[in-house]
Amino acid sequence: MPDDPGESFVWTTLLRDAGPGSASKLRVPPGDDAAVLADGLVLTQDAFIEGVHWDARFTGADVGWRLAMANLSDLNAMGARPVWAMLSIALPKPLDQSWVEDFSLGFSQALDHVPLIGGDTCSSPGPKALSVTLAGRLTAEPIRRTGAQVGDEIWVSGQLGAAAGGYYDIPELRSAFLRPTPPLSLGPALAERGLVTSGMDLSDGLCQDLHRLCAASGVSAAIDPAALPLPNALMTRPAPLMDAVGFGEDFELLFTAAASHHAALAALAAELRVPLTCIGHIQSGGTPPTLGKMTWPVGWSHFGPETT
Ligand SMILES: [Mg+2]
Repeated sequence: MPDDPGESFVWTTLLRDAGPGSASKLRVPPGDDAAVLADGLVLTQDAFIEGVHWDARFTGADVGWRLAMANLSDLNAMGARPVWAMLSIALPKPLDQSWVEDFSLGFSQALDHVPLIGGDTCSSPGPKALSVTLAGRLTAEPIRRTGAQVGDEIWVSGQLGAAAGGYYDIPELRSAFLRPTPPLSLGPALAERGLVTSGMDLSDGLCQDLHRLCAASGVSAAIDPAALPLPNALMTRPAPLMDAVGFGEDFELLFTAAASHHAALAALAAELRVPLTCIGHIQSGGTPPTLGKMTWPVGWSHFGPETT
């Protein structure tokens, strides 16, 4: 369930009216990165709206890549591999064919031979609006947000704040914003080797996402700000740490693991060539996560007040 009050209202209403039968058909109910059906099929869906999710700096190919990767990242978070995709696309008139061709190129490159099996097309009186549904398969138990244990170590993959740096036009980080590259081999490997107690992807920033993971697991967390893996190029920003934990869009994985798996995770990082960093530990619940002596920044909210 989203923690944004507006999003929460929408989903509380929809699930109330859908009745209890909806959730009972699921192995993993709404509230995780993707739903898992009783037969193990993993399903995720994302909307992508011009002016909300992307601006004029994105080419059509960037939009296609970014949309596909955001969805692939949610399957990755569950430990699943993609098996098919569906796309709905609403475009203003007159149809801009060259944009469609460009979009298709980026979308198909990101999906990397995952078959597109159908969808819907229509005109839009306003901005371009896209929605992708991805299905995936598990080869192990799904990674969920609910299993973090007191004393677990907290890990992240890659770097935090690269997408923020790209958004703020730091040249070295621009591609991280326009063309994110989630560590898609990592999620299935973590699930198959049974190394983690909980996990999710970092789409809204460590601040919001760790809070969600802690809430789902009934625990709290202590993060060491000095341990956070920030890109060097981000240091030119006035408050790089706030960018790293508050902006989101990095599509890295956040997960918890018993301290006894520390060496195995370091070995897995070397094997997959995916940087993994231990950034803190899980503590007992009742208090919000802490970031040293710093205050957690307020993250993005779809229906909250406008922020800059
Ligand atoms: Mg997610």
